[in-house]
Amino acid sequence: MSILIRLIYASKVASHFGPMDMHDILAKSRRNNISVGVGGLLVMSDGHFFQALEGGRAAVHQTYGRILRDPRHADSVILSCQEIGKRSFTDWSMGYALSNEKNRKLFLSYSAESRFLPLHLSAPMAEALLQEIGDHARQIGGAELAV
Ligand code: FAD
Repeated sequence: MSILIRLIYASKVASHFGPMDMHDILAKSRRNNISVGVGGLLVMSDGHFFQALEGGRAAVHQTYGRILRDPRHADSVILSCQEIGKRSFTDWSMGYALSNEKNRKLFLSYSAESRFLPLHLSAPMAEALLQEIGDHARQIGGAELAV
């Protein structure tokens, strides 16, 4: 039986990234992730991606390996990777959250600066912030972007 893990990384959005790229990424993520039992949450804010991938160890590492090679982002850093007893993001094959006026305070509450800088988060902070973003998304009715 495969060990269940959660991997969290942050990266910088490429300068050529456009609105249709997000639709493409979410559509492919949902298709690919369902077939390998991976789920999670993808956040885009302040020029950064911040993503949790949960699932079997091999499936998560293979998915992250593919994501790493994607030219639509750069400078990816793994913030946390740990074995887990239970998934936290069962609601979505890949949920999606943007920072907006409703959740801005939450994003900035984990930042030492006036911008959201996920590459500076410690592992416990990255874990806690993604859990809070997920909880907030559930309260307001989900984290799905129509694709
Ligand atoms: P194809 O769509 O056939 O892609 C083949 C190759 O072309 C891949 O190397 C791909 O990176 C590249 N490519 C495809 N479209 C574009 C484009 N428009 N511009 C530049 N290069 C392109 N994928 C997942 O499966 N699960 C995830 O959770 C996930 N999260 C992502 C998060 C981020 C921040 C980013 C940037 C990408 C994410 N992706 C995710 C997409 C992933 O990087 C691959 O693009 C995708 O998994 C490839 O799907 P495919 O195997 O169907 O191949």
